[in-house]
Amino acid sequence: MAYDQNNVFAKILCGEIPCNKVYEDDHALAFHDINPQAPVHVLVIPKGEYISMADFTANAPADLVVGFMRAVGKVARDLGLDGPGYRTISNAGPNSHQEVPHLHIHILGGKPLGPMLDQTF
Ligand code: AMP
Repeated sequence: MAYDQNNVFAKILCGEIPCNKVYEDDHALAFHDINPQAPVHVLVIPKGEYISMADFTANAPADLVVGFMRAVGKVARDLGLDGPGYRTISNAGPNSHQEVPHLHIHILGGKPLGPMLDQTF
């Protein structure tokens, strides 16, 4: 599958549409989710054209992989989530209900989040 350069996160990265920014460095951009599912719901995206975690870890340069993952940890720490705890989620593909085809890690926290998934499978 080819990367869709018109996806909403590509447009946020190039500044074409705004975001509520939390953090930015050479490798990553973090911003508040527009439709939060928890009191804290931040998305972290890599600066590069990668669809999913599988695409990213197979094809991104090592410095970008490291920089992106460090940014995820830093954002969670800076949001004060390390002590109380939080959840990271990265959806990939149809079964996960991925809506935006640019790799993103959801950071969710700010309250007890309950079980990871519903148990009805
Ligand atoms: P996913 O289903 O994992 O692809 O998640 C996509 C997420 O992006 C959803 O939680 C949306 O609420 C969020 N989202 C979509 N458009 C925007 C936007 N313009 N700014 C911030 N978050 C967005």
